[in-house]
Amino acid sequence: MYTKFAPSPVNTIPDEIRAQRRHLESGRNFLSTDHAVAIPAGRYQGVGGAVIEADLQVKFSRRRKNGSFTEKEDVVAIAALVRCAGHGCPDQEHQVPATDPVLLTADADDATTAAQAPLDAARKWAQQHAETCRALPYTGR
Ligand SMILES: [Zn+2]
Repeated sequence: MYTKFAPSPVNTIPDEIRAQRRHLESGRNFLSTDHAVAIPAGRYQGVGGAVIEADLQVKFSRRRKNGSFTEKEDVVAIAALVRCAGHGCPDQEHQVPATDPVLLTADADDATTAAQAPLDAARKWAQQHAETCRALPYTGR
């Protein structure tokens, strides 16, 4: 029997950072300098049956360089979002605040290491919500 284990969402972050670097270097504008990429980080089932999803958010942005009015720099921060699909759930969204931004040109491993805290916080919140949420799945009625 083959058991399929989920890959760690943290390991996807360096790929996303490299993709954003390539995009910025290419000079083409199919992606914005300010945008977020969601990486699935967990799925849970509440006691009422509703699905709860946790995502890591890789947030790219361009900010003014410290002390400069003309120079800008690209940074990346990691946040997390938990959403409950329960119909009538009183706590449908939980945003885990972003880490301090690091330069996009910095070692991609820095952002990856920083992602562990929001990932843990999101999963813990999702698990606790799943244990108490009695909202039923939304069936379209
Ligand atoms: Zn809920």
